[in-house]
Amino acid sequence: MIRDKITTELFDLCVIGAGPLGIITALEYARLNQQKKVILIEYGNKNTTGKNSLDESIQIPNLQNHHTTYEATNKGFGGTSATWGGRCVNYDEVDFIDRPIIKNGCTWDISFFDEAKPYLQKTAEYFECGNASFNLNEIAEFSSSSIAEGFKESDVTDAVIERWSMPTRFGKRYLDEITENQNIFLLEGYEVRQFSNPDSSGKVSSVVVRNIDNNESLSINALNFVIAAGTQETTRILLKNEHLFQNLGFAPKALGKYYQGHISGKIASVKFYGNPKKTDYGFLKDANGVYLRRRFQFSTKFLVENNLLNTAIWLDNPLYFDPKHKNGAMSFMYVAMITPILGKKLAPPAIAQSVTKGKVVGLPQHFFNIIKDLPQSLFTPASIFYRRYLLKRKLPGIFLYSPQNRYALHFHAEQVPDETNKMTLANDKETLIIDYQLTDGDVTSIIETHKKLDAYLREINCGELEYWFKPEELPEAIKQMSKDGIHQSGTTRIASSPEEGVVDKNLLLFGTSNVYIGSCSVLPTSSQANPTFFGGALAVRLANHL
Ligand SMILES: Cc1cc2nc3c(=O)[nH]c(=O)nc-3n(C[C@H](O)[C@H](O)[C@H](O)COP(=O)(O)OP(=O)(O)OC[C@H]3O[C@@H](n4cnc5c(N)ncnc54)[C@H](O)[C@@H]3O)c2cc1C
Repeated sequence: MIRDKITTELFDLCVIGAGPLGIITALEYARLNQQKKVILIEYGNKNTTGKNSLDESIQIPNLQNHHTTYEATNKGFGGTSATWGGRCVNYDEVDFIDRPIIKNGCTWDISFFDEAKPYLQKTAEYFECGNASFNLNEIAEFSSSSIAEGFKESDVTDAVIERWSMPTRFGKRYLDEITENQNIFLLEGYEVRQFSNPDSSGKVSSVVVRNIDNNESLSINALNFVIAAGTQETTRILLKNEHLFQNLGFAPKALGKYYQGHISGKIASVKFYGNPKKTDYGFLKDANGVYLRRRFQFSTKFLVENNLLNTAIWLDNPLYFDPKHKNGAMSFMYVAMITPILGKKLAPPAIAQSVTKGKVVGLPQHFFNIIKDLPQSLFTPASIFYRRYLLKRKLPGIFLYSPQNRYALHFHAEQVPDETNKMTLANDKETLIIDYQLTDGDVTSIIETHKKLDAYLREINCGELEYWFKPEELPEAIKQMSKDGIHQSGTTRIASSPEEGVVDKNLLLFGTSNVYIGSCSVLPTSSQANPTFFGGALAVRLANHL
């Protein structure tokens, strides 16, 4: 029945992959074009639990700095939003400006940012993260507050914010709307395999899909295609379909290269000099009840003049696993996270890893902390548990007050788009190999940015940084601690020509006239921002363009 229904239809749009970006593209297009037919094809189905053939055929040599494939993505309707954290952050002006540190890797320009801005509010609605305003100076109730007593904004700002989604699980949230829409046909449990050759005008007419349970193949015809299979799988589909570039006479050399995530970790604490009660260490809530959080960021001029990577640095707790923090509530939460079965229920593996660092250490001291701080060591986690797991809009994280006015600093920085960080196909033409390392530029920029922040806080007499490592130990410490693979971008980047990139500014694949890429893989630079919100804005824009 499915075969008859879909193989005889000419769809107006075929969207490949039902993660957040595929769902937004399909829904937005269907809302805008009520007579047009859309097919949304998703690899996963309800049997896709445990192992799957896509994740099984990926090799990642450097698991020190890159999560395993099962930790990095999810398969099934809703894609990786099944386990994502929900942090929504916008790109910044500097992400569209070339700088020597990013080695001419900025293949878009500020006009692209300006063109994306009208779609941000609609994007915020899909992500359920309130108004698309990312600066506290624009939000009346917070415009006169600051991160700590004595802080003044200048080259360093504390007003740029992250917003938090519910976190919206796109599968659960949009399933009814998709299945009830007469014009969207959802095909689950099919892997997109092979596109037909483009004709002389670049038009591609069909794609072959494979049923993941019985291997049956079907051919689907459409007027336009959007590949929204997440960065790694979108890249793999293109690497397996290089004939899509036959009209160019070559496959773009950027395809699969310049793979980026974020450099992330902690090398220092901040000690503020003022009243600890005036430090804004936790979440703010806007008028709609959406959680917001401030962070230190740096002005465009400052980053350009100092040739630094775009970096956000936020206040954090001391390391959970180290009982020296002497905090009973933290020890209790650490013990809960390392407890088999319970730990897995509390957080997805990549997030649990970022809290526990995969270490089981100091248990007697942790139990001592718990007993010493009773009953608070139980009340605080109980209240957090209620807000984080039982309410509809979940508490996005846990940040605890420091009476000493001392907070760990967590950095989250753009990565150098480096051609050796790449995704390639193995000789079997199926296996995807993901090469990922930190470059020297990544590491030196983190160290330099901390120095600048320290100097600035001292200059305005607001506070100072206290390093956790000796200066000579810092590069190796950063290389050891930073682990990504969950924020994937860069491998099919936007550029003005196929010599530099893979898609044009409308996300149209070079060499074709009707195949588009709806994935964070098109982002040439990785910003300090987690990629999904801005990727979502590109999906809304793409649906409008189509
Ligand atoms: C633990 C964790 C926490 C995260 N937290 C955040 C966060 O706080 N903020 C943020 O911005 N980002 C976060 N991310 C990243 C975020 O989840 C991704 O950026 C986002 O899901 C990408 O959306 P997507 O639609 O492009 O791809 P995906 O969500 O990966 O969806 C792609 C879909 O395509 C399907 N597919 C793949 N190949 C094929 C094929 N050949 N045929 C058919 N279908 C196919 C897949 O099954 C999948 O369902 C997090 C990720 C993880 C793992």
